[in-house]
Amino acid sequence: MDDRIGEACGVFGVYAPGQPVAKLTYFGLFALQHRGQESAGIAVSDGQTITVVKDMGLVAQVFDERRLAPLEGHLAIGQVRYSTTGKSTWRNAQPVYRSTGDAGFALGHNGNLTNTIELAEELGLDLNTIGSDSDVMGELLAREYSDEPRSDGRDLEGPLEQVLPRLRGAFSLVLMDDARLIGVRDPNGFRPLVLGRLEGGWVLASETAGLDIVGAVPVREIEPAEMIVIDASGVRSKRYAEPDPKLCLFEFVYFARPDSELYGQNVHAARQRMGEELARQAPAKADMVMPVPESGVPAAQGFARESGVPYGDGLVKNRYVGRTFIAPTQQLRGMGVRLKLNPLVENIAGKRLVVVDDSIVRGTTTRQIVQMLREAGASEVHLRVSSPPYRWPCFYGMDTGRRSELLAADMSVGEIRNYLGADSLAYLELPRLVAATGASSTAFCHACLTGKYPVPIVEELAGEPNSQDGAPDATEQPLRSS
Ligand code: SF4
Repeated sequence: MDDRIGEACGVFGVYAPGQPVAKLTYFGLFALQHRGQESAGIAVSDGQTITVVKDMGLVAQVFDERRLAPLEGHLAIGQVRYSTTGKSTWRNAQPVYRSTGDAGFALGHNGNLTNTIELAEELGLDLNTIGSDSDVMGELLAREYSDEPRSDGRDLEGPLEQVLPRLRGAFSLVLMDDARLIGVRDPNGFRPLVLGRLEGGWVLASETAGLDIVGAVPVREIEPAEMIVIDASGVRSKRYAEPDPKLCLFEFVYFARPDSELYGQNVHAARQRMGEELARQAPAKADMVMPVPESGVPAAQGFARESGVPYGDGLVKNRYVGRTFIAPTQQLRGMGVRLKLNPLVENIAGKRLVVVDDSIVRGTTTRQIVQMLREAGASEVHLRVSSPPYRWPCFYGMDTGRRSELLAADMSVGEIRNYLGADSLAYLELPRLVAATGASSTAFCHACLTGKYPVPIVEELAGEPNSQDGAPDATEQPLRSS
């Protein structure tokens, strides 16, 4: 029933001698839970030993006081993971840990490598036994790490500098050995990563909301192609490649928390501006503007503000439907979207509605919503979407399903409107969407909207190239999402 895009992963790291680093990481992961709900893990170092605790489930299910208590040290990293269905296993939970004799390291990955198979073949790994792209990255780093000659313990920095230029695709990383915390963003910076200052230490987090929760003050975003090293001597920064910023546009549209900042802009405010742009681009004669809760709320607020049409609630969301509810049998399929959403008949009966959502991926839920609103007495349903049609799969860490599953892949807007049963349908144009973010159009990846992939997709992952736009006709999922 859930046809939302699967979120990316979330990563967190803290270097803070004298502070309860495991608990800080627990809270940081808690704030990043929206980025991954399938597994959670924390690695802690006390300067001698790295201890890793990870398991399947939400942060609050994996960790309690008893599990956190022994995790003592001065630096820690953590990760919450989302993976595609059927690939959610304990083995793929993170942080990934590797030990090479007397030393070890741990890493947490948000993103998706596009050259996993190539790397695995170079390493001589059996493709059938690879756990994930992060696993391959860990193996690559472990081999470099074990070659590192150091009398006073090994340093992760040098091996990492050898490995990073070999990675392709999306990777925002937090890594640690027993003495240092390292943060890395890929040269395109597909996924966010920020640095914060904590009393007595430093914090890395996927989003500023992860800093807020532990009382850290945002310092700056880690730059694309930057490696930042935090240890007893302070913070050092290195550029390991030429940067070409291409932040995932959908972080702004949907993935990131509304209270986070991206490119210095509050995400909630940017989403409201998207709604304002949508109202200017595609106005509708209506009695009420309502969101698809909760994803469409800020854009609906912006639409109402700009259009002057009153804002109201037309659907109530059951907040407690997670990914784990029992799927209805064929017989009960009619319950469909009502497991999650129920109409407020008093608010919508006899009204012309503008219904705002941030995106339509597969369209199954949207279609049911339109039908439900009509059954509840709406006289007209005008759909407004605060992003362009989602036509291409993501290979940079989002689970969008196959291209054939994407509603807009081969349909015109008119055909989509017919399929969804709406009176009118409009998608926000790309230049207007970018304008609402306050950043430059060259600063974003928008491959899922345009088919223009900033990092080439290897053939094994993408299938045969499609003549249209020169973009790949992706029939297969990326090997694994992280
Ligand atoms: S393809 Fe789309 S979802 Fe994937 S990184 Fe680019 S903008 Fe984001």
